[in-house]
Amino acid sequence: MSKPKKAEGCISCGVKLVEPGFARFPCPNCGEEMGRCVKCRKQSNPYRCKCGFVGP
Ligand SMILES: [Zn+2]
Ligand SMILES: [Zn+2]
Repeated sequence: MSKPKKAEGCISCGVKLVEPGFARFPCPNCGEEMGRCVKCRKQSNPYRCKCGFVGP
């Protein structure tokens, strides 16, 4: 009985998504919302979803 949690931090580095430029997008595999900060988007840091999906 847990509510789906909204993405509050960058999936790669964990920084809070409070600055402009961050992005939220659903996991292509399971639809879980993930967030990424500008830095990680620029560096194309890999991210990993709870479901195991790994993306660039
Ligand atoms: Zn980040
Ligand atoms: Zn997923």
